[in-house]
Parts: sequence; C-alpha cells; structure tokens
Amino acid sequence: MSQIVSHKNAVRAQLKEQDLHQALDNAVHNIHRNRAQCLAEHFSQWEEMRTEAQELKTAALEHLGALVEQFEAQATKNGIKVHYAQNAADACAIIEQLITERHIARIIKAKTMVSEEIGLQDYLHAHGHEVEVSDVGDLIVHLNHEHPVHILAPAMHHDRYSIGKIFAQNLHVAEEHEPERLMQIARRHLRSAFEHLQMGISGVNFAAAQEGALWLIENEGNGRMCTTAPDIHVALCGIEKIVPSLHEASTLAQMVPAAGLGQFVPTFNNIILGPRREGELDGPKEVHVILLDNGRAAIAAKPEYRSVLRCLRCSACMNFCPVFKQVGGHAYLTTYPGPIGLALSPQLHNLAQCGHMLTMCSQCKRCAEVCPVKIPLPDLILQLRRHYVEQAAHPDQETVKRMRLLRLTFALFAQMAVSGKLWRNLMKKSYAADFFVQLTGKALLPPAKRWAYGHTLPRLKSTFYRDIAQIEGVEVQ
Ligand code: SF4
Repeated sequence: MSQIVSHKNAVRAQLKEQDLHQALDNAVHNIHRNRAQCLAEHFSQWEEMRTEAQELKTAALEHLGALVEQFEAQATKNGIKVHYAQNAADACAIIEQLITERHIARIIKAKTMVSEEIGLQDYLHAHGHEVEVSDVGDLIVHLNHEHPVHILAPAMHHDRYSIGKIFAQNLHVAEEHEPERLMQIARRHLRSAFEHLQMGISGVNFAAAQEGALWLIENEGNGRMCTTAPDIHVALCGIEKIVPSLHEASTLAQMVPAAGLGQFVPTFNNIILGPRREGELDGPKEVHVILLDNGRAAIAAKPEYRSVLRCLRCSACMNFCPVFKQVGGHAYLTTYPGPIGLALSPQLHNLAQCGHMLTMCSQCKRCAEVCPVKIPLPDLILQLRRHYVEQAAHPDQETVKRMRLLRLTFALFAQMAVSGKLWRNLMKKSYAADFFVQLTGKALLPPAKRWAYGHTLPRLKSTFYRDIAQIEGVEVQ
C-alpha cells in the first residue's frame, strides 16, 4: 500500500511541474522529427530490418544458456575476466572487491542503466568509494542529486537555463545559458575527471559470443575514455545482451540510434576484444565483464514474457508514450521508465511491489509500432496487469470500496453514453455539460476525480456534429 501511495504522490508531483512538461515536449518533438527524417532518408528497408532484428533476438534468447557459455569461453581466451552476478548485490560486491584488492582511488563511470539498476553509485559511496560520472547528461543529474529521467537522455527534463543554474551552483562557475558555453564548462570538468584514472566502468550494448567481444555505442566519446584510459575496465552486461556474433550485433547497433534519436549512425562504436596486448600503446591492462542475471534468466524461462528481453534500450517507446510525456521518468519510481519500464520492472523486481505502476499505460499501442525489435509492449503490460490483479486476490477494504465506486461510476457513464438521445439532450443544456465537467474534474465522484487528475477538460460544445450535418443537409444514421 505504501508503494501505491508514494507512486501516486510522485505522479502528482510530476504533473505539477510545468517546466518539466515544456522540456519534455520540446525534446520529444525534436526526436520525432529527426526520427521520421532519418528513417525516410536512410532506412528504406526499416520494416524488414525490424523483422530481422526481432527474429535474431528471439533466436538468441532461445539459446541464451549456450550463448553465455560460448561467450565466456571466447572472452576468457581473449584475456577478459568473466564474472557472474546472480543479483544486484553480487554485481556491486564484485566491483567493490576489485577496487579494494587493487587499491583503486580514482573511478569513473560511463552512462549505463545497468549501474542504475544495481544501485552501484550508492553502494560504492556507502563503502567509502566515490565514482565520477563521464556523460554530460549523467553529470547534470548527478550534480542535481537526481536519477536519470530517460534511458538515453538522463537530463532530458532540464532546459539550458536550469542546467546553467546547476553548473553555477555545483561547479562554481558563472551562470551561462548558451549551449556552447555550457558544453565548454562540462568538458572542462569532465576532462579533469579523466586525469590519473585507475578504473573505468561501462555498460555494454551487445556481447558477441563467437568473438568474445563487447560492443559499446555512444555519442560523446566518454565511453571510449572510460574503456581505454584507465588501467582497469569493468563492463556491466545484462545476460540478455549476448548475441551469436558481431554480425548480428552490427544489424542491431545501427537500429538503436535511428530508432531512439533519429540519428543515422552512432558517433562512437567501441568494440573491445580484450586488454592491451604486447606492443599496443594504449588500452586497459585488465578487462572484466560482469554478466548480470538479476531476474533475467527467470524471465527468459517464461515464453509469454520472454520477448521483453529483446529490448535494445533504444528509448523509442518512451519517446512516443503519451503518459511518459506527461509525467517524465521519475514518476515511475524504478530504473527503467516508459513502456519498457512497465513491462520489465515488475518482472525484474516484484510484481506485488511495483505492479501499481502498470496503470501508467493508456494502451494506445504506439510503443509497439515504434519498437525496433517489435516487442508487444501493450500486450505484455495487459498480461502483467491481469497477473497483478490475480495476485491481489484478497484486496483490503479500501480497495474493495474504491473498486465498487469505480464500477458504479463507469456503469452510470455507460448508460448515458450508449443512449444517444439522452446524451445529446444532456449535453445540449450547457448547465448539464458544465455539470459533466464538474463531475469528472471536481470530485463529485472520487474515482472520476482520480481519473481526471492532471487533465484539463475543455468546455463542452452544445452544438453537435449531427446538428451541423443536418444544416448542411448530410444524413446521419
Ligand atoms: S522496448 Fe523497444 S522501443 Fe522500448 S527501449 Fe526497448 S527496444 Fe527500444
């Protein structure tokens, strides 16, 4: 119950943030435009690519156990040390052990959602280790003591004015608002963080089993710095990221920036085959990869839910989600926001604990249309809702009362709505239309109030299409 309350409060708080709406509106508007242009110009076979990507990820997940073994054997041959982590605590403990054994003092992290999922920064902080972040978006949210609002653009909810304030308050620089000046400030700060580095932590986009290679795509070059400048590189890799070979990875790698950002190619592709070899001038002396399960193997074992593990973390589904656009990523109270978060988080964590977030879907189905690997997100969300309700077989008294009232409200509404004559007569009277708006918006019925929270209902018109059509001489059935 307490999770439900804090979730509701988080949603309400986000709905009140006018600046958040404006920033998200602008950001997703630009992404939509860029994506449409990019797909039209460079991906004439986009639908065929989606089918291919869906099939190859499905096949990889069906043979996940064998691929994990193949990857481990080949990566080990390449000189990469492979670790297994059953859960978040295991993964954090492995990194902490590497840090203490090697007396590491300077650690930097590239943007990785898996590190958010396992709570790495908080864990290391609690154990006396500070981690610098290397991505500009990550830096903004880190300085502002927040979590990422979006999986590719962690600071999407901040405009240049609020970023200027955050930099001025935390980096002791003059408050700037011009993007070029803000980037200069971030670059200066991050460059100093890269000096004398000892350990770099990154995520992984794909792990190729045949070659034992790690593939990391990024746009700022910070991932390359994290994986090549320090003596030790630690890569965090969810087991579902393993694909048969670099060939499959190359198909998927070109889809991620196009689907998520409307970008033709990623600016940096880092393919890591192991530590620095003899005669090489740079690169880490040790490469470790942590293969993280954290609930993934259990999902892979359920055919009805397995498709969620096809996810490439491209972010397209949240960019097109009307709910995400209203509330942003923080309202989900879990690492992964948007439709993929709804389909994944209750499975990674606990359906009873985060099942209430499943209400944050209007079933508009846009996410399924834009997903590059064709994950049936709306169906998965519906299925999870069903399981959540079944699990709560003994709801508390308050929930029972609320559900009864909700059913009564919708039954009354249905009576009104299906009787065309009654509906028209009621709505023709402006007082009735106003009453309807009051009814839904102002708490005359509590369930309706909950439904209407955050919506601005327009004044209803008392002229109907039917009346206009009659004046125009159009016959309406
Ligand atoms: S579910 Fe699909 S659209 Fe959403 S992040 Fe994953 S791959 Fe991208």
